[in-house]
Amino acid sequence: MELCGECSMLKQRLRRVNDHYVRLIFEQDRMTRDGNTRTGDFENVMQEAQNRLISAGLELLAHQKSHEALSRPKTRTAGQL
Ligand SMILES: [Zn+2]
Repeated sequence: MELCGECSMLKQRLRRVNDHYVRLIFEQDRMTRDGNTRTGDFENVMQEAQNRLISAGLELLAHQKSHEALSRPKTRTAGQL
């Protein structure tokens, strides 16, 4: 599949959001081990990060689907390359 500028942009964003989420998981783990039970706000932050991760993933998938549609032009018959 061909990658365009938007692909790499979306991938970079997905990676950034993912890294951020992973850091939050470690942070939460540490807070729990430290016996910090006031994690209510933190859970909201994590939920938000999770939502961002999901939407970044979905956006990349949707974008790549549009590539697939473009890479199958009706004018070119398969096997004629
Ligand atoms: Zn693309």
